[in-house]
Amino acid sequence: MSEYQEIIAQLRDTVAQICDQYAGEYWRAKDRAREYPGEFVQALTDAGLLACLIPEAYGGSGLPLSVALEITRAIHENGANAAACHAQMYTMGTLLRHGSDEQKARYLPGIARGELRLQAFGVTEPSAGTDTAGITTTATLDGDRYIVNGQKVWISRAEHSDLMILLARTTPRNEVSKRTDGLSVFVVELREALENGLTIRPIRTMINHATTELFFDNMPVPAENLLGEEGKGFRYILSGMNAERILIASECIGDARWFIKTATDYACERKVFGRPIGQNQGVQFPIARAYAQTEAADLMVSKAAELYDAGEACGAEANMAKMLAAEASWAAGDTCLQTHGGFGLAEEYDVERKFRETRLYQIAPISTNLILSYLGEHELGMPRSY
Ligand SMILES: Cc1cc2nc3c(=O)[nH]c(=O)nc-3n(C[C@H](O)[C@H](O)[C@H](O)COP(=O)(O)OP(=O)(O)OC[C@H]3O[C@@H](n4cnc5c(N)ncnc54)[C@H](O)[C@@H]3O)c2cc1C
Repeated sequence: MSEYQEIIAQLRDTVAQICDQYAGEYWRAKDRAREYPGEFVQALTDAGLLACLIPEAYGGSGLPLSVALEITRAIHENGANAAACHAQMYTMGTLLRHGSDEQKARYLPGIARGELRLQAFGVTEPSAGTDTAGITTTATLDGDRYIVNGQKVWISRAEHSDLMILLARTTPRNEVSKRTDGLSVFVVELREALENGLTIRPIRTMINHATTELFFDNMPVPAENLLGEEGKGFRYILSGMNAERILIASECIGDARWFIKTATDYACERKVFGRPIGQNQGVQFPIARAYAQTEAADLMVSKAAELYDAGEACGAEANMAKMLAAEASWAAGDTCLQTHGGFGLAEEYDVERKFRETRLYQIAPISTNLILSYLGEHELGMPRSY
């Protein structure tokens, strides 16, 4: 990565400057109102940061994932949250790797210019969360279009996106030999879809996440919006999920570093019994432990990203990076809150907000249990548990 050192320093600097303009009070106000941080996302877009993975030929900066993750990590390290915009990075691989030249020419320049937002990723359904192959939303070919029927849940940013990558079943489950066959991926143009059978209903959550439920009632999607081959969508989504896990892991590392710095500063300043609380090993050691966990997890994030960029298999590393980084950020968050005593619960310190936000990563985009069962089965050769 040495050839990118200068670019990385510039990216981190740009992110820090933007986060400075959108500091704690901005996020607290958005959190209270459960409002989308549109101004922050616009600032990242204007700085060209969200087009970092788009090849230069289409107007982006053509950076590898291992450099792009410096952006998401720095956003979190500076106390902000990339959840409002990270999907543009992690869904990009699906379009780049499986889209046709015509599809790339149609969408990528507009995304790079910031005129089109690719921020929604429609996979999860009420009866198929972890069990992705169990989705029941259908897309049925009818002349030159597919007709989509069904429901999705937890689809984040759908109200703040122009395009959505959608996974739907194109061949009934009883007509395919493997349950992962017969699924296909589409690019859905959301503004058009909203007038033709798509309903979006927001879900209010513990964190400010702009997540929604989607209902498809005979929603047409042009056949030319099918990505890659019909029926192969599960594989395409899986390769995109590795990028998602690596980027989310980098956000966890950013969170963990914010928690560790905030806890350390407070432990040095706060005096109880006439001395800094950080002088007590009971306060100091959990922070030091979280630091060690974070730096170790970060090495796995780098390894996973390097394998991804080299086009090599990285399922195990991406999963381990996500699990270790999410555990590190949770340990750091818990320690930071405890270090602050009662003040950890006060809104103005931002600790309780980030504590709530970082909890998500134990569940989404994949839960810790499922990572462990992946490792148990695929890496260690133990029997499949489900
Ligand atoms: C805020 C938020 C934003 C999200 N954004 C998106 C998005 O933009 N797009 C999208 O498609 N999805 C999104 N998701 C969905 C997310 O990916 C799912 O919540 C996640 O995959 C888990 O699915 P589930 O919630 O249905 O849990 P379930 O599948 O119902 O699992 C519940 C619990 O049971 C455990 N479990 C299930 N099966 C097993 C097993 N065999 N062994 C051991 N434990 C098991 C799980 O680990 C989990 O802890 C989002 C979710 C949230 C909360």
